[in-house]
Amino acid sequence: MTNTNETSEIKNIIDRALQQNPENKEIIKAFAPVIIMQRQLAQQSSSKKIDCSLIDKEKLKAGVPVINQVNLFLPEEPLKEVTLSIASAVKEGIPKLTEAIDKISALIQEDKINPADYFRASLESENKTAAEWENNLKISPSNASFLMSLVSRVVLERRAKEITEALDKFDWEEGYCPICGSFPSIALIEEEGGKRFLHCSSCGQYWRFTRISCPYCEKETVQGMEYFYVENKTQEAAFVCDKCKKYLVTLYRAGKVFARDMDISAISLIHMDIIMQGKGYEPMTACVWNVLS
Ligand SMILES: [Zn+2]
Ligand SMILES: [Zn+2]
Repeated sequence: MTNTNETSEIKNIIDRALQQNPENKEIIKAFAPVIIMQRQLAQQSSSKKIDCSLIDKEKLKAGVPVINQVNLFLPEEPLKEVTLSIASAVKEGIPKLTEAIDKISALIQEDKINPADYFRASLESENKTAAEWENNLKISPSNASFLMSLVSRVVLERRAKEITEALDKFDWEEGYCPICGSFPSIALIEEEGGKRFLHCSSCGQYWRFTRISCPYCEKETVQGMEYFYVENKTQEAAFVCDKCKKYLVTLYRAGKVFARDMDISAISLIHMDIIMQGKGYEPMTACVWNVLS
């Protein structure tokens, strides 16, 4: 059950990104099938809802993200279909992973591995399940982690929708995500009023954040000194912080406003990641596309 309007919208967004950033077409094309699939799957709701009445708005106000208040990954939620769908999209975009992904898909189909276990284990100790899958089933832990991080986005985006619908308005003033606690992958500054919005690529959430401090370390910034621009491109920048040595790719919204997908925007600006990492800065968060070394 997918919404065809939204699917054709995301395809248009990808086409525009390819036209505007032809130098990055390889990476955009590699991730396009995955992102289309993630958005389609995220439109469907989870089979198991979380109990949003457990979320405390006072705690949110104090900076405790939802993920530290309730479990967002429910062990009883079967993620078999989601994982297999994402796996086929990965093969389409990145054919060199076909053999590795087929192996994982076959094990999931035969119920030899349960994708939900991956998230259950991550609540206790990082990558314990990935290590078990590696030892017992000879699966590459990096391929399994890559696949499951793409599945994680679908689960968390569904949760983010559930939560924002249930909570309505809430106060949040932090530089990390109110839902999942991740740092932003990209920022958007509005032309009118100059408000800055941060985007979380782990769950798809947006939130407003002050322009006068660094989202990562909260150091106050000196106006005009904190952005790095590429020559002739005034709409693309990277916020840089000299205290924590992090950068945040930033887009200025100007002119004709098209619908955006902030992950597509972030991937389209991969040249900024290359430049900033070359200068010794680190991204505020690791995404599947911005870990370059
Ligand atoms: Zn998030
Ligand atoms: Zn900082």
